[in-house]
Order: sequence, then C-alpha cells, then structure tokens
Amino acid sequence: MADILDTSIKYLQGIGPKRAELLAKELNVHTFRDMLYYFPFRWIDKSKVYPISSILKEELLDSEEVNTSSYVQLRGIITKKELVGFSNGRPIKGKARLVFTLTDATGSIQLVFFSGLKWIAEKIKENEEYIAFGRLTLFNNQVNMVHPELYPPAQAATYGSGSMVGIYSTTEKMKNGGFGIKAITKIESLLLEKTLPHIKETLPDYIIQKMGFCSLAQALKNIHFPMDQKALDAAQRRLKFEELFYLQLSLLKQKNVRTSKGGGIILSKVGDNFNKCYSSLPYQLTNAQKRVIKEMREDMRSGKQMNRLLQGDVGSGKTLVAVLLSLIAIDNGYQACIMAPTEVLANQHLASIQKFLKATDVKVALLTGSTKTKERRQILKELEEGSLNIIVGTHALIEERVKFHRLGLAVIDEQHRFGVDQRSRLWSKNDTAASQQTANPAGGPALQLPQPPHIMVMTATPIPRTLAMTLYGDLDVSILDELPPGRTPIITKHAWESQRKQVFDFMRQEIDKGRQVFVVYPLIKESEKMDYENLEAGYMRIVEEFKAPQYITAVVHGKQKTEDKNLDMQLFASGKAHILVATSVIEVGVDVPNASIMVIESAERFGLSQLHQLRGRVGRGSNKSYCILMSGYKLSRESRKRLELMCSTTDGFVLAEEDMKMRGPGDIEGTSQSGLAIDLHIASLSKDGIYLQQARDLAEKILTQDPQLSAPENRLLTEQLILLRHQGKDPKDYSSIS
Ligand code: ADP
Ligand code: MG
Repeated sequence: MADILDTSIKYLQGIGPKRAELLAKELNVHTFRDMLYYFPFRWIDKSKVYPISSILKEELLDSEEVNTSSYVQLRGIITKKELVGFSNGRPIKGKARLVFTLTDATGSIQLVFFSGLKWIAEKIKENEEYIAFGRLTLFNNQVNMVHPELYPPAQAATYGSGSMVGIYSTTEKMKNGGFGIKAITKIESLLLEKTLPHIKETLPDYIIQKMGFCSLAQALKNIHFPMDQKALDAAQRRLKFEELFYLQLSLLKQKNVRTSKGGGIILSKVGDNFNKCYSSLPYQLTNAQKRVIKEMREDMRSGKQMNRLLQGDVGSGKTLVAVLLSLIAIDNGYQACIMAPTEVLANQHLASIQKFLKATDVKVALLTGSTKTKERRQILKELEEGSLNIIVGTHALIEERVKFHRLGLAVIDEQHRFGVDQRSRLWSKNDTAASQQTANPAGGPALQLPQPPHIMVMTATPIPRTLAMTLYGDLDVSILDELPPGRTPIITKHAWESQRKQVFDFMRQEIDKGRQVFVVYPLIKESEKMDYENLEAGYMRIVEEFKAPQYITAVVHGKQKTEDKNLDMQLFASGKAHILVATSVIEVGVDVPNASIMVIESAERFGLSQLHQLRGRVGRGSNKSYCILMSGYKLSRESRKRLELMCSTTDGFVLAEEDMKMRGPGDIEGTSQSGLAIDLHIASLSKDGIYLQQARDLAEKILTQDPQLSAPENRLLTEQLILLRHQGKDPKDYSSIS
C-alpha cells in the first residue's frame, strides 16, 4: 500500500503546482512527509502578550527572554498608518515603506513593512484592534517590529487549540508567494488532519516502550500544535532521539559491514626499525602517546582493518605517533604513507619525520604536486616495487597512478580538509599488489583478496565529543590529551588598537631576547581584497617600526609565488627573520619552536577553533610564550565572549565545546567539507548530547545482538534505514568502495 506521506504536496488542498514549486525551491519540500517534517523552530506561549512599554526598554533586548532574535506577541490598536518614501505616489526604491503605530495602554511601537505595501495598507484598518506577532529589531536606537504577522484577536482561534504557537521559518520569497507563518500553520493543520490516521510508526514497539516515547502520530501533532510545554517536550524528545538514533545506527552498521569483511592486514611484529627509532628519542613518550600507540597496535594486529581517529591538540606529538606506527608497518614488511593537506605541511612533516628516522634504515620520500616529473617517476617506481618505505605527500598521493607494493598504514593528517571519499580512495591502493600476488605462478593456493591498509586520521582540531561521534561515527577514536612536559602555558591577552605601541615594545623586548614573532592577519574570501590591503598596510607598519638590518621581517601569503613563499618561510624557520607577517594559512603548518609571540590581528574575525590553532604555533619550545589578540573597538557580544574565552583557557576541547555552543556544529571549522551529512533536522549536536549518547548506546546494543538487523522486531529498522537512504538523509555510504 502506498504511503499517503509520499503524496506530492501539490495535491494538498490550496497548494497546486505553482505554490508546490515554490515550496520545492525554497524549503526543499516535495511531499506530504516533507511538509509534515517541516517543524517550527520556536514555540511561543500564545497566552503571553507583552505590554509594549516593557519591550521598548533597550536593556530588555539584551535579556534572554526578549532579544532581537526572539518573537513576541503584542496587542493594541493601530493608531496611525503611514506610507513613507514615496514621490508623486510612486515608491522610491529602497526607501518606500509602510509604517503602522500600534498602541496599547502602556505605549506605542512602530510596525514596519517594506514589501506588499499596497495590499497590507488596504487590509489593515486604522483604529482597530490587532495582535502583532513578530521579531523585534533595533533601528536608529528604536525598537520596532519588521513585517509582523498582524491579525484581529478573533482570528487567533485558528491557531490550533493549545496555548503554544509554533513559529516556522519562512523566506521573503515564500512570504511574497503567500506562505507567511500563518499560511504555513494552516497547511500543517490541514495536513495533520488528512494524514494523522494513516501515519505509520517508524520505531519498533520495544524501543518506544523502553524509552517511554509517545507515538509518531502524537509527536508530529504536538510538534506543530502542542497543547502545552509538556506535550511539546515529549514530542521533541522522541523526534530528536529518533533522528540521532537512525544516524548512529546507520554509521555503526556501515562500520560493522566494513570490519566484518575482515581482511585487515596483520601487523603483529615490533621490530628493528621501531626499536631503533624509539631508543634514539631524546625524550620519553608522554603517557597519552603510549596509550594511543597501544590502542592502535591492538587494532593493527587484530585481523580487522583499523579505522581510527587520533585527536590531539596542537603540539601534543601526533607526528611521532604516526612515525612509530608506520615503523610497525615497515617492520612487518609493509609500507606507510602520510598525507597532509598542504605542500608546506607535507614538507614540514618530511623534515620532522626524517629527524625521527635518522637511526633507522627506512627510506622516505616526498610526493606533491610540485615534484618534478623525473623524480616522480622514480618515486612511483620505487613505491610499486616496495623499495620505498614511507611516502609523505599531499593529495598527489591519492591519484590513480600512485600504486603501492604493500601499503600497510595510511595516515591522514588534518582530516577535515579531506573528504570521506578521498579517504576511501586510499583503501584500494593495494589492489594491484594483491592481484599480482594472486597471479604469481609460484602458486600460493588460496586466492588473496585485496587488503585495505589500516587507516589513521589525525586531527589537531579538537572536536566536541558529540560531534566526533557523528562526524566520525564510523571511526574509533583515540585522544592525545596531554602535552609533552616542560612547556610553559601560553599567556593570552587581549589588546585594543590603542595599545599597539605597547605591543610593539613587547615584541621588541622578546626579539632582543632572541625570540621570534608571528603576526597573523585574517583572510576571508568575501573580503579578500580588503584583507590583503590590511596585511600589506600591517606589513609596511612593521617594517617601518622594526627597521632592517637590525630586524628582519618575512611575509607569507597566498598571492605570492611558491618560491617567494618558501624563501620567506625558510627565512623565518631558520631564525634569520625575526618577524613573520602572514595570513591565516600558517594555521596548519610550521613548527618554529623559537617563536614565542603570536599576534593575531583583527582577532574578533576568527572563530574560536581557528584562534586556538593559531595560538598553538607558539609555546612549542621551552620559552615562555604569548598570544596577543588585537581587536578594534566595535566588538559584538559574541566576539567579546570569544576573546574572553581565549584569554581564560588553553584547553582545546573546552574551546571546541564552547565554539559549538556559540556557533552551532555546522560552522565548526571544516566540518562542512568533511563530506559527512550532519545536517540534522531537529536534533542539535550542541544541545542534545544526552540523546545522542542514548541513541548511540541503543544502536550499539541492537547491532551487537542482531548485526544484520534481521530479527522480526528489527525489520522496521532496516526499512527505515533504506527509506532514509532514499531520502539522501543517511551519511554518505562509502563502505562499498573498500
Ligand atoms: P602535533 O602534530 O600534535 O601538533 P608535533 O608532532 O608537531 O605535534 O609535536 C610537537 C613537538 O613536540 C615536536 O617538536 C616534537 O618533536 C615534540 N615532541 C613529540 N613528542 C614529545 C615527547 N614525548 N616529549 C617531548 N617532546 C615531544
Ligand atoms: Mg602536526
């Protein structure tokens, strides 16, 4: 039987093909189901009407209850109606507006419309009572309401029977097409009436029982038209949980499929190279390093393919972990590759890896986009023959022509710059090697399947736990939560533009002590031209202030030729330059332990995780290090809070959590490029961590007992996973590639 929810929305009374098109375009709503799952983003208590005087106070706008992004309901009489910005009866572009004055017993407020003027002016009558419902804005220091919903009090009854009113987000185009909040409310009401008796349950009964959920039908009704807060809570709880549950179930199932394929290369031996490197280290491993190496060794000899995320703050020593694990692969007769997001970083990796490998016989090479043809040919040949043990490189490594003899471990640094697809392309790198083995006339009996290498993804961007569970839900996670000893914590200070002279004096002091300084400028696509001008001006000011030859200043940015960039980078890395002026590109690279000051210009324009990454560029040596956040005077509340947070903690995980709370998970550095769908419909990774944990636990438990989800009581789960996949709502499936 066809599901009524699959009906095209154009067949709903009052919609039709034209408005259906608008819905499809603006809201991606095509079917009854889509529309039914178009939930309000906020609910307000309809019984609550604010006295106008109470919202005119500016301080109230700052309060939690009423602020510039929240909706309020007012009730009063339209005492004035005025068309402004017209010349000879014709609207002046950008100026024309319709202004009503709404007055109650306590005061008056202006209601402003910028479009649909004639129509609204005709409809809304002076000296009559209205309920105005909308968002408050501050214009010229005056609180007013722009494009409110306006209706006579009598009409309020059409809004469902409960006391809560759902607020749907709508766009300007939608409003012009007749889809204001009120219209959407009507559509939902009609839709519920039509579909409620036919709605099929989407969770197995035993889960509903166990979790004490309401039915799906009830949840859908109450998310749109809750009788009260309690009903709304119940509906949200169930819908959020369900969304997170299916996401986790899907991720874990993919993971199961992959690991059950077996085929993990068994790397059990700890051999010469490992031991030589280990005993030549000038320092002890941190406990955290020991722990994660142990975790990954277990994986690598388990017979299953390792897929692990290594999270560790900047400076926590991830490179060494990668090297030691690579050596295990090599000691077992396999190769390793280490992939970095940029050439600069690949170069740096190579340099530090070579240092670690001095005591070993391991052969390592670099492959990037700028490797010369002749050299590249040689490298590719040696890789395929197996005489090259470790290859460090960029995206160039996942190109088709790169083949390994026996790739045992692939390390991907800074995962968020690589898509999931790219990660999975590494898995097939051994195909030829394995098929060559099968074709070997020496005659091994069994056909050997291509074995995917073990995968370790390293990220220096601490990711909140809830986000990691989702974004990397298919990976196991290891955490390096300890910095090598002997580092003095970085001191972070916020400085205003007016304190620039003091900042320069301080820089001079440190440089005279033999230290080096980073000065970093934001570079944002939208304002790129101006950003470069700022950097240019900043560079000139520094050169003026810190005169050569006593002080040398290097500069690095994206518009330079690679040679110039490398030259200046080298100048700074070798200690010949005292100051490096750069755009935020240095965020992912460069290890200059002698640098002790990081000056971040226009710091208010960076996100928390980016600030944290930048700060991590100093404090790598034993010198006392400083991070100075320069800002202009105009700071939004958010920016101010970000800067304060930076000054108060150096813990990347704390900052990541805060970042997610402040900006939502979608904006966290790099997650949008990650290739995993985390665009959740109703649940929030920052607010619904508890549900997420519950959902993951339950999904894990179910899959342990019934890995194929073939038990009768789990049939619905399989059906739902398939349905979600068809809707494109499951995370990208890449298990098929392995
Ligand atoms: P990450 O990549 O995690 O930001 P790195 O691997 O670049 O950190 O390590 C930062 C610095 O710390 C490097 O100079 C490295 O040699 C050093 N280091 C790594 N492990 C230790 C350790 N256990 N003790 C002291 N220094 C260490
Ligand atoms: Mg690193």
